[in-house]
Amino acid sequence: MSSTNRVRVLARQVGAMSGGAVQQSPPGEEVAAQAASLFKDSGSPTIFDKIIAKVIPSKIVYEDDKVLAFRDLNPQAPTHILIIPKHRDGLTQLSKAEERHKEILGELLYASTVVAKKEKLDDGYRIVINDGPQGCQSVYHLHIHLVGGRQMKWPPG
Ligand code: AMP
Repeated sequence: MSSTNRVRVLARQVGAMSGGAVQQSPPGEEVAAQAASLFKDSGSPTIFDKIIAKVIPSKIVYEDDKVLAFRDLNPQAPTHILIIPKHRDGLTQLSKAEERHKEILGELLYASTVVAKKEKLDDGYRIVINDGPQGCQSVYHLHIHLVGGRQMKWPPG
């Protein structure tokens, strides 16, 4: 879908949310994901750059030279941690991965297991990567969600 069409869709959705009755409006996170996707290929910095630079505070639970893990501001489970590459290197989203990213992708997954152990998620947990507007991605800096501390359901929404 072109950016123009996406703006039209977004406008209809926001209109439905504010005005009312006729059209069923999607949940806020879907609207936010649609809005964020308008800038997905801009390469502009995201909120995560400020977290990496420690310009804004975050609750960091793990850090090494390539990876940062911090608690999600809007947790969806008792434990909800984001694991991100410190250097985005074009990885705005998983579907942008290229051959050169294989190493950092492995680092991120492995770091997720280290964090899960630190958080004592011994009975299991879920790893999620949202990709693009249909995947409900809202921040265009690749991140793994590590969620746990409660029984997960399947299928996901
Ligand atoms: P996604 O929707 O998959 O792109 O996930 C982005 C996540 O970043 C959401 O779960 C947000 O709650 C989270 N988030 C956004 N801003 C912050 C922040 N400043 N600190 C921690 N988490 C954040």
